[in-house]
Amino acid sequence: MAGNSAPHALKANGRYAPSPTATLHLGNLRTAFVAYLAAKAQGAQFLLRIEDMDEVACRPEHAQSAMRDLQKLGLLFDGDIMWQSQRRDAYSQVIHELLANDLLYPCYCTRREVLAEAESSVFAPHSPKGAYSGTCRELSTQQRKEKEAQGRKPSLRLRGNNAEISFIDRLFGEQTGLIDDFVVQRADGTPAYNLAVVLDDAAQQVGEVVRGEDLLETTPRQIYLQKILNLPEVSYLHVPLVLGADGERLAKRHGSVTLAEQEEHGVSAERVRQLFAISLGLCSEEENLSLDELCLRFSVEGLPTTPWQLPAELTFS
Ligand code: GLU
Repeated sequence: MAGNSAPHALKANGRYAPSPTATLHLGNLRTAFVAYLAAKAQGAQFLLRIEDMDEVACRPEHAQSAMRDLQKLGLLFDGDIMWQSQRRDAYSQVIHELLANDLLYPCYCTRREVLAEAESSVFAPHSPKGAYSGTCRELSTQQRKEKEAQGRKPSLRLRGNNAEISFIDRLFGEQTGLIDDFVVQRADGTPAYNLAVVLDDAAQQVGEVVRGEDLLETTPRQIYLQKILNLPEVSYLHVPLVLGADGERLAKRHGSVTLAEQEEHGVSAERVRQLFAISLGLCSEEENLSLDELCLRFSVEGLPTTPWQLPAELTFS
């Protein structure tokens, strides 16, 4: 942010990377707030990346509203926005390299088949939910031809070799995951999230990934890709989720969960930000601190590790 005094020398960048599939809700915005504070507290830049690769699910108006909401909260980003939809060539190039090195194979399983298979298989404790059991891993050329003749379009999976990846999340501590053969290109030709995110973070020179706890489980796969692609390591900070009044993960069905809806009920963006700050243990109800002051107070050690239930003041049904 221009004019924001960085406490020390510039470090590798921080970022927020929303998918514009819907208007951001308060849970998304609270994560963005932590991403901003974590970056600025380290004197790093705060970059924005719009993860709009999925042409069917993403809408330009949601990207616009995300930018508007971040601005209202004062979470100004540095530099240019990165749009995933404009980076197809970069992803394709890496997919070609991985193919050339025989690290990928075509998988003809439908999503339903993968899920059914995953439910009936017994996986090791560190396997991710829905881990792929390897049905198409050793198909012969003839078998592949038969699948293609049935009109099946393949996704491309990376050979994960059941590698064990451990990392330290700055809030959740040591994590371990086994790497299944995960998808890097979907059957419709779209690069998969795990591939795009790793390439984008490297291209944006991200030093620390801050995002919702729901993505903690995807991290070992991303680290595995970084290693294979010889990309720099990054650190991770996953932020506990926000829950609705019923204790379930915050979602549209909970009612007025967007910033615009809160404003319609008379809750200002400043108040929402203050409630975020209180929920993160950064200030008390009596204090109304500026973003710069909050950056100075920010420390990962002080953050809660449990979800935050939306307070009554922000709950409108
Ligand atoms: N685009 C993802 C989301 O909105 C976040 C990806 C990331 O931060 O790595 O959930």
